[in-house]
Amino acid sequence: MSRIAYVNGRYLPLRDASVNVEDRGYQFSDGVYEVCEVRGGKLIDERRHMERLRHSLGELRIAIPMEPQALSVVFHEVVRRNRIRWGIVYLQITRGVSRRDHAFPPAGTRPSVVVTARNMDFTAAEKLAGDGIAVITVPENRWERVDIKSVSLLPNVLAKQAAREQGAKEAWFVDKSGHVTEGSSSNAWIVTRDGKVITRQVDHGILKGITRTVVLEVMAQQGLKLEERAFTLEEAHAAREAFVTSASQIVMPVVRIDGRPVGNGAPGLIASALRRDFHQFAEQS
Ligand code: PMP
Repeated sequence: MSRIAYVNGRYLPLRDASVNVEDRGYQFSDGVYEVCEVRGGKLIDERRHMERLRHSLGELRIAIPMEPQALSVVFHEVVRRNRIRWGIVYLQITRGVSRRDHAFPPAGTRPSVVVTARNMDFTAAEKLAGDGIAVITVPENRWERVDIKSVSLLPNVLAKQAAREQGAKEAWFVDKSGHVTEGSSSNAWIVTRDGKVITRQVDHGILKGITRTVVLEVMAQQGLKLEERAFTLEEAHAAREAFVTSASQIVMPVVRIDGRPVGNGAPGLIASALRRDFHQFAEQS
C-alpha cells in the first residue's frame, strides 16, 4: 500500500506529494509543525496540539490557514487512508510560496499545509522502554525561542546525530550555567534520591511538551512530588531515575547519561508507572 500525504488540499501518493522549491519552509525553515501520537487509530491529545500550533503560528505571525475542525478532518483522513493503528501524524505549515526574499511575502500569500502519517513498531518501542535508553549531553546552542515549534531544527539534528554516533538515542542540551534544558526531540526529567520528580519550568527556553503537560496530571493523581525547575548535569548524574517524554515515545526511561548508569542502570519505577498510566489521562479523538 502506498502512503498518502495531504498537500494543500489534495490527498496524494507520497511519491507525487511535493512542495514548490520557493516554499518558505524549504528556503528559510519558515514554518512550524506538530506531531501527534495515533493509538488504536485515534489521535492523542489533538486539542492540545492544536492549541500549541496556534501559539507557534501566532508568535511567527503566520496566518492560520485552516480552522482546527477542518484540520482535524484532514488528520483523521490521513490516518484512515494510511491505515495507521499505532504511529504518528505529522503536520507542517509554512509561510507559503513566494519569490525568495527574507522579509515576509506579500499579504495574502497562502500558507502551505502538509500532513503525513506513519505506523510505528509497537513491539520495538515496548522493548526499548523495557530496556531504557542512553542519552548524551551537548551544549545548548539553539535560539531563545524554542517554545515555538519551528521546523528550523539544525541544532536538534546535529545533537541527535551525535547521540546516534555514540550509541545513544537522545541528546540533552545543557546551557551555560550547567543546567539541562531539554532533549533534541523530547523533554527531560529526573527523579532525585528522595523521590522528587524534577523537570524544567516552561518559558521560552524549552518546548512545552504536550506529553509533559499530561504527565504532570498523571503525577498529581499518583501523588508524586514535583519540582518544576532546571536541574544540573550533576543532579542528573546523581539521580535515582531519569526519563524523557514526547508524543512518539510517551515516557521513555533513561538508563545512561554520558555513559554513566542512572540509579541502578535499569528503568525506574516512577518512569514505568507514568508510562503505564499515561493514556488514562490523554484525550483521544
Ligand atoms: N522538546 C522538543 C525539542 C521536541 O522536539 C519535542 C517533541 N516534539 C518535545 C520537547 C516533546 O513535545 P511533545 O510531548 O509535545 O511531543
